[in-house]
Amino acid sequence: HDSKTDETVEARINRLCATVPDYPKPGITFRDLTPVFADGATLRAVVDALIEPFEGQFDAVAGVEARGFLLAAAAAYASGTGVITVRKAGKLPRAVYTESYDLEYGKAALELHQDDIPAGCRVLILDDVLATGGTLAAASRLFARAEVNVAGYGVVLELGELHGRAALAGHRVRSLVRL
Ligand code: AMP
Repeated sequence: HDSKTDETVEARINRLCATVPDYPKPGITFRDLTPVFADGATLRAVVDALIEPFEGQFDAVAGVEARGFLLAAAAAYASGTGVITVRKAGKLPRAVYTESYDLEYGKAALELHQDDIPAGCRVLILDDVLATGGTLAAASRLFARAEVNVAGYGVVLELGELHGRAALAGHRVRSLVRL
């Protein structure tokens, strides 16, 4: 009997997620999910759990560069939909929409190809960690400009004390573990 097959997805994430103090700078506690992605049974459980509440409600899955790409590609494949890349500024070669957002120090911008997803589609947006919500809110604004409907958001980990959910009001947020 393999007890790990009975383990909940939340327990799997808690067991595998690595916590790195003072990375990338002093005062930040970095949550490293690479061991979660590296475990086959956990990757599958995570992706299944992220898409489950949105079943039948999305036509494409978007991932935010870079760790969101891993989840989005797997979720798109599992649900028979396409994958949309939301990239850091300057990476996409054709006409894009651009949305800036605030980081702890300074600003960053995300971009979406204007014609990668038709107006009227419903997109599920995935990323690894929800912190302040600035990243997913910027992604959401990109889809608004493309006249694409946000079906919801899915993240593996939510850092509750940063209140990222408040930045995403109006859409359902599925998080598998809240810290
Ligand atoms: P935010 O825009 O503040 O919600 O930050 C979310 C983005 O930054 C995600 O793409 C995460 O990968 C990354 N991130 C922010 N804080 C952390 C953290 N403590 N550990 C790991 N990744 C983080």
